[in-house]
Amino acid sequence: MDQKKIGSFIAARRKDIGLTQSQLAEKFGITDKAISKWETGKSMPDLSLFGPLCDLLHITLNELLLGEFISDENLKEKSNQVLFEVVTSWLGKDQWELKTDSLAPVVLSLKNIQKVYETENTSTVAVKDVSFDVAKGSFVGIMGASGSGKTTLLNMIATIDKMTSGLIEIDGYNIAELPENDLAAFRREHLGFVFQEYNLLDILTVYENIELALTIKQTPIDSAKETIDDLSKKLDISNILDKFPYEISGGQRQRCACARAIATNPSLILADEPTGALDSISAKRLLETFTMLVREYSATILMVTHDALSASYCDKILFMQDGEIKASLNRDKENKQEFFTKILDVMAKITGGINYVS
Ligand code: ADP
Ligand code: MG
Repeated sequence: MDQKKIGSFIAARRKDIGLTQSQLAEKFGITDKAISKWETGKSMPDLSLFGPLCDLLHITLNELLLGEFISDENLKEKSNQVLFEVVTSWLGKDQWELKTDSLAPVVLSLKNIQKVYETENTSTVAVKDVSFDVAKGSFVGIMGASGSGKTTLLNMIATIDKMTSGLIEIDGYNIAELPENDLAAFRREHLGFVFQEYNLLDILTVYENIELALTIKQTPIDSAKETIDDLSKKLDISNILDKFPYEISGGQRQRCACARAIATNPSLILADEPTGALDSISAKRLLETFTMLVREYSATILMVTHDALSASYCDKILFMQDGEIKASLNRDKENKQEFFTKILDVMAKITGGINYVS
């Protein structure tokens, strides 16, 4: 995928239909700077904007991703080329190793979860009747556009926010029944977190950040050191253990957050848009780290994302819209490319917005 070419194509189409950058920005409720970044190839539009952008510019999704018009006679061939280029440049060509374990115990169980935010004169139903289970050793994605309720759902599972009704069980514990005073300890014992920001404490070095998670869990110092050494080799952060979070890149910070999250061997790792602030190469690396944690450390990960490319790393994807799970997709025998294509298909069906030709 050639971002520069796509950017020039967007700019040319925008001018053809007589819009300024500001006018285009206004239509999507985003900044002029964001448009300028697209057009210079510095960033890609958010996936949720692909459909509306194509409609506005009178082009198909494939033309957008290819950065040029596709004539009718080579439509099929070019379309496949586009998809192939997209998935290989973003995801690599490796085959997915399938691991199905239907007998794995359930780590997380949600039954009829509902969350209503009451403000002075309105009430917003952010999550409606959501039920699903997450088995040990699986990598589950919750995918949905901004505002669909993903963070609200994740925060309830994280015991940070309270549900209005329903039942959430983590390791068999009904979290609504945990006394307020025990919640912090429960989070330390059972959960790991990799969020987009605020992951690491800036006053501690990377080593101390990971060590802190272990000492809170009362791990002896020697075994803590062994765990940290082992993990930092695996996650390629050995050479930055003495640095402070503000001295390292976003991608390195997220890998350190992964090390800290897995170090205590939690039952469930929760990740909210973990690649949100990363460039595409660092994002890919982080997602590969997640799959490594699942395969080699039997981690269980629940990741929220609005991005189909990130979601294509998961074993199972739940599609969320307007607070509801509208569809789910299990990775079968397909590789990442095929899975990615399926994800786009489901999204097209749900949103009706993506003009995608297979
Ligand atoms: P996502 O993470 O998918 O972008 P959120 O869970 O943040 O979505 O938000 C879902 C809906 O709930 C949105 O309509 C949002 O405006 C609303 N919402 C989220 N947090 C609050 C809050 N603290 N008070 C009121 N409404 C909220
Ligand atoms: Mg969110």
